[in-house]
Amino acid sequence: SQTKAEPMRVLVTGGSGLVGKAIEHVVKQEGGCLKGEQWTFLSSKEANLVDLQQTRAVFEKYRPTHVIHLAAKVGGLYLHMKENLHFLRDNLRINDNVLQTSHERGVTKVVSCLSSCIFPDKTTYPIDESMIHNGPPHDSNFGYSHHKHFATLALTSANHVYVTNTISFDLTYTHTQTDRYKHILRSTLLLTEEGTPLQVWGSGTPRRQFIYSLDVARLFLWVLREYDEIDPLILSVGEEEELPIKDAVQMIADALDFKGQIVFDTSKSDGQMKKTASNAKLRRYLPDFTFTPLSEGIKKTCDWFVNNYDIART
Ligand code: NDP
Repeated sequence: SQTKAEPMRVLVTGGSGLVGKAIEHVVKQEGGCLKGEQWTFLSSKEANLVDLQQTRAVFEKYRPTHVIHLAAKVGGLYLHMKENLHFLRDNLRINDNVLQTSHERGVTKVVSCLSSCIFPDKTTYPIDESMIHNGPPHDSNFGYSHHKHFATLALTSANHVYVTNTISFDLTYTHTQTDRYKHILRSTLLLTEEGTPLQVWGSGTPRRQFIYSLDVARLFLWVLREYDEIDPLILSVGEEEELPIKDAVQMIADALDFKGQIVFDTSKSDGQMKKTASNAKLRRYLPDFTFTPLSEGIKKTCDWFVNNYDIART
């Protein structure tokens, strides 16, 4: 355990993922690491956190005082619908192993990540932090959502903090979050050259709030250092920023200079039509935080994607 004078040793599980890479960028490139601190970004290659022995071994190796727990089996809507049981079982194990091992080793603070999909399907809007346990989530991601519910129980019992962010369309150097968006980005690029229509699954009418992943990362660092409640906190842009998915698709098309036709395949599921989240609590803490505008984030992401096509994870 940590003495007062000792700098933090932070272990980031899921450090090779979208959010983890963004945090690594903020830590290494934006001065997010204070003197003497040790930051470790884990991938599943170093430890499979579904396995308790591997989890314990990696904690033994790095002896973290603080944990940012991001590791999860994450899919998009269609994968969640297909493999609900796997999402539930693997993620339950990962959370249990990470939280129990943190507890055993006396980790000072664990910051863990929920998701906007855990809020009740039938609800009033905007959604806020008090509504997490008010009803069942949308059935499209039943398994994934429920593992997050269990995480809130474990975290609250152990007095650790958890944050929930809204869908974060990858707008950064790393990769896109869901199969839907990865697919859009890659195919838009290819079709730009071929001149054929771009097919988008779903009607494009569901509404979402999009947050730039580096903004998420900056907020995570603030939560780690400053946020002392154990109650959840929604990390999101404001309600007024919610827009139909088709508007985001159009921004991608514009950023990639795609001039062809965009066709929405309405035979494919839309998922939840909206999940408008309130960021009023976050705003009470950080009234002046500036979110990166969506079109700017999309432009940066698309430029990165074009320049790093061969190494981009799809
Ligand atoms: P990614 O899918 O980009 O990354 C997942 C990370 O988890 C990777 O580092 C992956 O390692 C690791 N991982 C997966 N399985 C295991 C395992 N068995 N053992 C160890 N590590 C494992 O996810 P995101 O960065 O997008 O999400 C991070 C967190 O944020 C998750 O908890 C997610 O639920 C939550 N979240 C994300 C949102 C988003 O829009 N991105 C929205 C809401 C919540 P490897 O690279 O080796 O496979």
